Amino acid sequence: MKNYDWLIVGAGLYGAVVARELNKKGKNCLVIDKRDHIAGNIYTKNDHGINVHVYGAHIFHTSEREVWDYVNDLAQFNNYVNSPVANYKGELYNLPFNMNTFNKMWGVITPAEAKARIEEQIADLHITAPRNLEEQALSLVGTDIYEKLIKGYTMKQWGRPCTELPPSIIKRLPVRFTYDNNYFNDRFQGIPEGGYTAIVEKLLEGIDVRLNTSFKDFKAKAPEEEISWDNLLYTGAVDEYFDYSLGKLSYRSLRFETEYLEDTDNYQGNAVVNYTEGEIPYTRIIEHRHFEKNDTAHGTVITREYPAEWKSGLEPYYPMSDEANLSLYAKYMELASHEKGVFFGGRMGLYKYLDMDKVIREALIFSKQH
Ligand code: UDP
Repeated sequence: MKNYDWLIVGAGLYGAVVARELNKKGKNCLVIDKRDHIAGNIYTKNDHGINVHVYGAHIFHTSEREVWDYVNDLAQFNNYVNSPVANYKGELYNLPFNMNTFNKMWGVITPAEAKARIEEQIADLHITAPRNLEEQALSLVGTDIYEKLIKGYTMKQWGRPCTELPPSIIKRLPVRFTYDNNYFNDRFQGIPEGGYTAIVEKLLEGIDVRLNTSFKDFKAKAPEEEISWDNLLYTGAVDEYFDYSLGKLSYRSLRFETEYLEDTDNYQGNAVVNYTEGEIPYTRIIEHRHFEKNDTAHGTVITREYPAEWKSGLEPYYPMSDEANLSLYAKYMELASHEKGVFFGGRMGLYKYLDMDKVIREALIFSKQH
């Protein structure tokens, strides 16, 4: 008979940080994952000497000293700064929206000229409190940038028009009146040399892990295997845990098409190029070797990212944080509150669009409380 203090479902970043922290406190943990690898969606896999971000590009950025120190204990971070380029029908613009973008779009030179141009474009719209993503975007950057760099991209990414999306989504992006192409405002940023999987391996050192193991199967077989646990941390989708008894939560999914190109070691000159026009079905092309400034690998690996409506069998990437879904989530949380010794966490369990640093922050808070 083997009894664990904690069964942690999901070997992603959240589950792995909690496992390590609880383990440090002397708690005995078992981590299970239905996939055949650890690290959840931050999993990176070496392909021809290049670390490929298998479930989408992950760039670590944070303003929290404690979180930055935490990850730097686990890996050496490089000085990568994310500066995506947007390609709109062959016209190239720097992101996020900054003086380089405004200069290329309108030929303006000074911040005052750029602000005046935006003002001029939105004067007639009289937007005071933006009610949706379109109004938010227009009030921040004007009509030209909205039409060329936001409208089509967002429509593809979320599968619905900007008028039906919350303003919060676009507020993730900085708008700057300086010549600064850094996509993030955070104090610290970088990519772990050697990939993200190595980080999660380190977090899980000395902890029992079972892969290819779904919670349902594991739970069914546990009595026969004589395994039990006192507490459960579930980092999968909360509606799945409750067998969709109150209905299904919605997600946005992604499909990745990855290819190795033998004949070039620099396909697009940048790690991230966004394709912002609506007619091209993918949102971006990632060239992985630029994340780690890999000079030694031969060839290059690129990934086209296609957004997709989520349905059973596809990976649920982004929670759809509209009113209907948030209210359904709240109902599931009400159910969850009656489950003794069961906790939900991570991007799926919390049903929140969380960056990696926020996942670590949440995991550290959880671990301190238990
Ligand atoms: N966005 C856009 N054009 C771009 C990049 C982003 O309109 O070229 C908008 C889009 O609505 C997207 C949001 O900004 O959903 C947030 O982008 P971010 O890069 O933060 O998305 P993530 O990388 O997390 O998917």
